[in-house]
Amino acid sequence: MNYRVTVLKGDGIGPEVTDEALKILELAGQKYGFTLECTEALIGGGAIDQTGDPLPQETIDRCKAADAVLLGAVGGPKWDHLAGQQRPEKGLLRIRETLGLFANLRPAIVYAPLRSASPLKDEILGDGLDILIVRELTGGIYFGKRGRRGEPGSQEAFDTEAYAEYEIRRVGQAAFEFARKRGKRLCSVDKANVLDTSRLWREIMVDIGKSYPDVELSHMYVDNAAMQLVRHPRQFDTIVTSNMFGDILSDEASQITGSIGMLPSASLAAGTFGLYEPVHGSAPDIAGQNIANPMAAILSAAMMLRYSFGQMAAAAAIEEAVNQVLAAGLRTGDIAYGGEKPVGTKEMGQAIAKALASL
Ligand code: NAD
Repeated sequence: MNYRVTVLKGDGIGPEVTDEALKILELAGQKYGFTLECTEALIGGGAIDQTGDPLPQETIDRCKAADAVLLGAVGGPKWDHLAGQQRPEKGLLRIRETLGLFANLRPAIVYAPLRSASPLKDEILGDGLDILIVRELTGGIYFGKRGRRGEPGSQEAFDTEAYAEYEIRRVGQAAFEFARKRGKRLCSVDKANVLDTSRLWREIMVDIGKSYPDVELSHMYVDNAAMQLVRHPRQFDTIVTSNMFGDILSDEASQITGSIGMLPSASLAAGTFGLYEPVHGSAPDIAGQNIANPMAAILSAAMMLRYSFGQMAAAAAIEEAVNQVLAAGLRTGDIAYGGEKPVGTKEMGQAIAKALASL
């Protein structure tokens, strides 16, 4: 198999961590019998410098021609003075919209060797945590009608939450599929005691559930879900929720894992196309120093193998290699909580490659 990947390394630590992810992908290909045809394109600050646009048309075309996109990070102080529409981060928002990436996946995993990084107590974490949050990404209140009316002093502002059935159905179906391949439990989070959009959301989830008798569907109000994530997070396997609720809950869940340098993400379109990126930003404070943690980028690459290419064994092997390296005590600076001597970005990438090769 040959897969076409458009690589958007971006700014700051983006190129450093993406380079390590690409090395791991190539090695995984040799081991599991596939090849990657990688094409680079510009996004963010680098794209502004060269073309004046954070998302040039050529980048959009290259992404559309690919099977998947691997992204580093964008932004930095050099471009902070620019107005909203011209900022590097605008490139990110536009690419998600342009590529129709309606389902955002964020795993929240507490790796056993990094338990002490979690703010949660040992008895709450039990023997570990592995939650997948599926957030609707292109609908809801962030995209609804908004505005202001009235005179200063008596103004009113409004934002509108609207969901069409097809929008709920496509993200719901995706979530059921993921749940089926994981722990076969799906919790749909809404506010159906108050919101009509949530009542429709719940109806559609129940309807989709009829086609997935092997997946246990439950419902939870979002306020309760926020509480349960820190009180008893192990009750969750897969969570599906709307754009705004998912925005908030996925940040909450990521914090219980303790480290931003470990968090991958995927944003999926219809079919198997997806964009994969670490959750962290361009970290300008540590860029160019070979000290960034490449694991979030490497784990994002593993998600690409799993969700866009169906290379399950290769994806699991990369995750296992990361686990082994952590278990052996290797740490980049951001996760050296136990006073370990930190290794650099490249050294961490090499160690993961070595672990992968010997699996
Ligand atoms: P950030 O995630 O870049 O950094 C926050 C802190 O975490 C910093 O101290 C940084 O050094 C550290 N950090 C982040 N990733 C790390 C890694 N892999 N290894 C070790 N340490 C890591 O967030 P920020 O400082 O708020 O934003 C910096 C720039 O990135 C801004 O321009 C922002 O707009 C942009 N940003 C981009 C994205 C993206 O591209 N998806 C996401 C968030 C922020």
